[in-house]
Amino acid sequence: MTGDEFENVFDDLLNGDEELKAFCQVLQEQVPQAFIQLHGDNGVVLPEVAAQPCSAEGVAELLAKTRAAGGRPVAAQGQAGEWCYGLRVDKISAVLLFSLPGRSDNLLVEPHGRQLLQGVIDYALLQQEQQLLKIENEQIFRQIAVLKQKHTALIEDNFRQYRLIQDKEKEYARTLESEIARQTAELRNTNARLEEASRLQSEFLANMSHELRTPMNAIIGFSDLLLELKLDKESREYAQTIKNAGMNLLVLINDILDLAKIEAGRIELEHAPFDLRETVDNVASLFRIPAREKKLSFMVEIAPQLPALLYGDNNRLRQILINLVGNAMKFTAAGEVAIVIGLQSLASEQAQVVFSVRDSGIGIPPERQQAIFDKFTQADGSTTRKYGGTGLGLAICHQLVQLMGGSIAVKSVEGEGSSFFFTLPLKVARPDAVVAPRPEPEGRAEGNMQAEAASVRSALRVLLVEDNPVNQRLASIIIKKQGCELAVAGDGIEALAQLEKHVFDLVLMDVQMPNMDGLEATRRIRKIEASSGARAQYAGLRNRTKPLSIIGLTAHARKEDEQSCYGAGMNGFLTKPIIRARLEAVLAEEAEACNLGRPQGPAA
Ligand code: ADP
Repeated sequence: MTGDEFENVFDDLLNGDEELKAFCQVLQEQVPQAFIQLHGDNGVVLPEVAAQPCSAEGVAELLAKTRAAGGRPVAAQGQAGEWCYGLRVDKISAVLLFSLPGRSDNLLVEPHGRQLLQGVIDYALLQQEQQLLKIENEQIFRQIAVLKQKHTALIEDNFRQYRLIQDKEKEYARTLESEIARQTAELRNTNARLEEASRLQSEFLANMSHELRTPMNAIIGFSDLLLELKLDKESREYAQTIKNAGMNLLVLINDILDLAKIEAGRIELEHAPFDLRETVDNVASLFRIPAREKKLSFMVEIAPQLPALLYGDNNRLRQILINLVGNAMKFTAAGEVAIVIGLQSLASEQAQVVFSVRDSGIGIPPERQQAIFDKFTQADGSTTRKYGGTGLGLAICHQLVQLMGGSIAVKSVEGEGSSFFFTLPLKVARPDAVVAPRPEPEGRAEGNMQAEAASVRSALRVLLVEDNPVNQRLASIIIKKQGCELAVAGDGIEALAQLEKHVFDLVLMDVQMPNMDGLEATRRIRKIEASSGARAQYAGLRNRTKPLSIIGLTAHARKEDEQSCYGAGMNGFLTKPIIRARLEAVLAEEAEACNLGRPQGPAA
């Protein structure tokens, strides 16, 4: 076989097989002194590395041997006496031949040589692989570097954004903080102003209440006393007119003050157990006589399934009912007036109670039925002339019902009658709940109490502390008429001076007075009572077995006034204008407590 023939057969392979060429190069680098020839299995020589280390016969022999050896290194001596070595490279399907000039020994036969060659081949392969790996590695490194760069850029970008957001957040927080601070300050300011305004309003209401009630006290009280005297018919009529006008005025004053209080949000609703039947009976009792006088049938109907005790504001409920029944009486000339109370629902201790006040009176035209709940509004312009009134009663009812969480409405047919009804959600109280003391009559019903009076048999020693001369005189007359011994002081200082010299069973202490007010005077008295040294100097406090009874007289019927009376050490209080019956009841109670005698029953 000639070299040309080999070339022809393996042309394609050799030109195409880059891998083989690369391997050959590696081998040449590793074994530089060697002539290296690469033959395909059929003896084609790789042109680029071709050399002629030995004769064609030697090569042929070697090829045959290496083929037979299946890849193990073999050696053959050529004709020129040169050795050539062969190695079958299975992986690349070729036979590698080389000769080392100057080495005529059988290199491949010696173990050392074999090892060397094997090492070279392995090394060459390894190096090639390593080279590839290195390249791959470098590529990976390059990729990693690129990724790293991208990553770093990304992180930096992120960080920048984060810082930006943070800065913005801080900035925002700062603006927000200062805005909040500004608004808080503004709110505080507004709040303080509102509180001040509200305080002034309360104070004004309290003062108005005092200023208006004080003269009313005198007008009603003295006309009442006047009516007890022997009068001719005409004088009696005048006195009665003054008294009636005074009572009407008192109702008006109470209404206006009440509405002002409600509108100022200054009303505190009671939440205490009360007996609904008792409340309704009490209201009804005020109207039985007027109904009889007008020849009206007057009916009260209370659903039997209503719980005995409920939680709520008994006095305010009473006030609403008195207003409605009062109107029904006023606007009904014939027929009936009825109070009907029913239970709408009862679930989980919560009762929905329906109150209705029905009459067969003049009725209300449909277009006025809504407006009458507004203040100062009457069904028609002639009402005032014909029936009197101010148009405040229903406005107060409406507001109170709303405050209690209910609603009020009217159904009416002109000329046939009206039915006012309201519902209230009222919590059911346990049957053993402690019921509040009997309601204190006030407002529209006050007048009715004037008739019930009680007198005291024996001498109760009373100290009246009151600065207003008219009130002083009125109270003095009432107290003396009860057979009590009376001393009068114009303020707290005078009261203490009286107590130094005289003994009393009861002090009636006005709250608002010049020099030393009633609260301060009471605190001083209690302090003196507590110290045996100081007590010795006061005849009125020295030998007492129990603390001196002090009843406050206050024009302010507000909750806080009540609290300050008790807080100062008073035993109770009476609101002004003094209602004769109530003052007499206090005197009677005190007389009984002092074992001075029992109330004699209604006064003449
Ligand atoms: P006042 O009765 O003092 O005028 P109210 O607010 O109690 O004030 O009532 C407003 C108006 O509603 C009354 O003036 C009257 O015109 C009408 N009204 C109230 N209740 C009745 C009733 N039962 N029958 C007819 N009209 C009534």
